[in-house]
Amino acid sequence: MKTTLIICIFALSFGFLYKSNATETNKQTISIDSVKIDPICKMKVKQPANHKSTYQKQEYLFCSKGCKLKFDKNPEQYLKK
Ligand SMILES: [Zn+2]
Repeated sequence: MKTTLIICIFALSFGFLYKSNATETNKQTISIDSVKIDPICKMKVKQPANHKSTYQKQEYLFCSKGCKLKFDKNPEQYLKK
C-alpha cells in the first residue's frame, strides 16, 4: 500500500512537471476566450466569428446574420437576463 502511494506521488510530480511544460506551449493555441455565447440563441460561437457586434464596449459574437440583426435592433432586451 505504501509503495503504491510513493509511486503515485512520483508519477504526479513528474506528470505535473511534464504538464506545466506542455501547457505553456499550448497556451497560445487554446484559449477559453476564443469561445463566446451568442446572446440571442445561447449558442457557442468560436472566434473569429463572421458576425459580431460591439455594444457598450463589449463585443458579442453571433452564429448568424439573423441573430446579429436581432441584437442590433434591441440589444438591451437580450442582455437584461
Ligand atoms: Zn444565434
